[in-house]
Amino acid sequence: MLPEFIENVAPNVRRLVCPMGKAGSVNGWIIGSGATLIVDGGVPGAEASARWDQAEQADVVGAVEAILCTHMHRDHSGQIPRLVARHGVPLLMTEAEHRKVVAASEASTEQRQTDLTSFLIRQGVAPAEARSTAPPDYSVLASFPRDYQPLDDGMTVTIAGRAWRVLTGGGHSSKGACLISEDGQLMVAGDQILGGTGPHITVGLDEPEADLLSAYFDFLGRLADLPDTMLVLPGHGSAFRSLPAHALALRKGHQRRLDRLKARLDGAMSCTEMAPLVFTQQAMRHFGYLVPGMALSLANHLWHRGELQRHEDDDGVWRFASA
Ligand SMILES: [Zn+2]
Repeated sequence: MLPEFIENVAPNVRRLVCPMGKAGSVNGWIIGSGATLIVDGGVPGAEASARWDQAEQADVVGAVEAILCTHMHRDHSGQIPRLVARHGVPLLMTEAEHRKVVAASEASTEQRQTDLTSFLIRQGVAPAEARSTAPPDYSVLASFPRDYQPLDDGMTVTIAGRAWRVLTGGGHSSKGACLISEDGQLMVAGDQILGGTGPHITVGLDEPEADLLSAYFDFLGRLADLPDTMLVLPGHGSAFRSLPAHALALRKGHQRRLDRLKARLDGAMSCTEMAPLVFTQQAMRHFGYLVPGMALSLANHLWHRGELQRHEDDDGVWRFASA
């Protein structure tokens, strides 16, 4: 009997669902028969670890050949140290994501708090609220493996009896890695592409002026010619098909928010003031401290295109207005 948190999605493709509290759940993937590929695998901590142990006991993990960490976010990287130590196999990820997860795990909690507080204040969050917003804890990933096999766009890797083409993209993180099987049947997507309204595109503390939406639109454009029938294995939620149509819908969703922002912008506004113009209350509750960075991704895109201008007010808050 399969544990209830494991779903057989397709022949030799298993989804291991890891809980992440209020934020829902995240997928680990086990692909292959005999020799297997593990993808991501959950937040740090005992609950997700126990699920991997149970999966092994239920004999669904197989002989692991390699482990892919699609991107650095905690819900994807959290179990990687333990899984790599357990199976002693190569870890695959891009150089940018590896560098960022190591740097995040090494930064002091005080430094991370200072950085987040000043970022949020710049986006118009009230100073007291900004100071009481804690950054995600990456110190638990201090043991993240330093050895890894770097993936880059266009490479081919053979794992679990399949040849895979590496597709990397920005937007959601610096350089997330996807794998597309050369037979066109499977895509390991990480968070680069998700069902529903897609991944959040959030400007981070390290590159506050970045135009992440342009990077994400470039990535979405590269999905247009992939087969409709390909099964997409996302980082969150169920597997799905019809990727080209979904990529187009995601692009239109972002475009609608950009149009809405331009239409509703009233004078010079901070990202905190802009957020309710473009996001639902429900989305704002769900994404919490990420919301100002999500609004900033829209504002930065328009600012890079010359459609908005930006100035810093006397309180150090960035304000955007129509150009
Ligand atoms: Zn992510």
